[in-house]
Amino acid sequence: MSQVDRTIQKLIDDMIETMEKAPGVGLAAPQIGVPLRLAVIEVEDKITVIINPEIVKSSGEVDLDEGCLSVPGFWGRVNRAERVSVKALDRNGKEQRIRDAEGLFAQALQHEIDHLDGRLYVDRLIPETFQRSEPLRKREADVRAARRAAGEIVEDEDDEAPD
Ligand SMILES: [Zn+2]
Repeated sequence: MSQVDRTIQKLIDDMIETMEKAPGVGLAAPQIGVPLRLAVIEVEDKITVIINPEIVKSSGEVDLDEGCLSVPGFWGRVNRAERVSVKALDRNGKEQRIRDAEGLFAQALQHEIDHLDGRLYVDRLIPETFQRSEPLRKREADVRAARRAAGEIVEDEDDEAPD
């Protein structure tokens, strides 16, 4: 994507709204069926928009619990870099450098960039850590509503009985 035009601006606003309603820490365009290298992240009330992102440096190693709006009701443990530096365009199409991001922000950057590469955290799971999340299960209805509002659904009512 070389041009951040009005259509993209509108898409970014919609994605931020969907992420906040979910609520989620991040949302990548492919998750709502848009094949662009674009993602939004919100950590500690700060919204970051990354377009055509590239991890230019990573260091350290951590095992972290992770979930995803595309895999509602589950979480698992993944191995991530502790710190990452990212080169990307911002929402105005200007080049931005995110240097040595840490903590949840670093995790979200890696998670969202994975989405842009067609990869889910479940592809990186540490074996036998994948499990149902009770609190997330209770939020599934909200997540579904947000996804439906975003046009993402995919009727996904299943016949599974509560256990
Ligand atoms: Zn995700």
